[in-house]
Amino acid sequence: MSNKNNNNNNNTCLFITGNCNSKCTYCYAPTFYITEKEKNAKFKKNIQNVDQAIKIGANSFVITGGEPLLYKDLFKLLAYIKANNCSVYLNTNAILFNNKTILKILKYVDILGLPLDSLDPKVNTKLGRQKSYQKVIDFLKEYEENQYYDQIKLKIATVATSINLKSIPELMEIIPAKADLWKIYQFCQRGRGEKNKNLLNINLKEFNQLKKTIKAKNPSIKIVFATEKSINFSNFLIIPSGKVLIPSPRGYQILGYLNDKLTQKKIQEVWNNPNYQANLRRTYLLKDS
Ligand code: SF4
Repeated sequence: MSNKNNNNNNNTCLFITGNCNSKCTYCYAPTFYITEKEKNAKFKKNIQNVDQAIKIGANSFVITGGEPLLYKDLFKLLAYIKANNCSVYLNTNAILFNNKTILKILKYVDILGLPLDSLDPKVNTKLGRQKSYQKVIDFLKEYEENQYYDQIKLKIATVATSINLKSIPELMEIIPAKADLWKIYQFCQRGRGEKNKNLLNINLKEFNQLKKTIKAKNPSIKIVFATEKSINFSNFLIIPSGKVLIPSPRGYQILGYLNDKLTQKKIQEVWNNPNYQANLRRTYLLKDS
């Protein structure tokens, strides 16, 4: 049943904790759409989810939450994933970074995803990012100067909102040239973002203008711009109960359950299909209309 030639690289997200040490105003984590009981799982349950996901084709996992570094068995879990020849992409807000944590990240993580929304402390405070900002900046300096970090790929994520829109182009000055990707997301009205939409929303025209401004500066790093719409159906999210969710215009849709043979087959078919996003878009948008 195993399928190592699948198309879901970087699209299988393992949501391991609903806890977070930040309160970003735009947060659209699935935390807001699942029950308290579903938010956290014992190590054994997460291992079961990894095993079942591998059986139906996953060969890489994006570790997400909440804040993954708050999960006490994080590195045990990452070691397990690596021992199964799968790659690990860790998304973290960096607040808990210290020398010991960074060494472990270098040992188990293939791709590290860090947030960076503005260089302006006031803007970061308004976005709820004040705690992670300095930690990310410190890491970027180390990353730039130290070849030891080259073993890890670095992806920077920025969420474009009405608050940081103007200051986003200057982030180019601080993102190391050797970073692998800078992904800029249009603010998305989900989760806490839904509550704060009047304050944070930007329209597509504004987002496209940002794209033009940045491109005009001839950036040397690879940049991807993700519109609010493109986020829909873009990944598969395994929550601790084994439920698989996909982001959709109304929050998240349930694709199936890893521990249920009937829906397992459906999940397998969808996530091994190279056109899965277009297919899901058709299926769910038609169902909703
Ligand atoms: S965006 Fe990430 S770091 Fe911020 S509150 Fe949400 S889960 Fe936590």
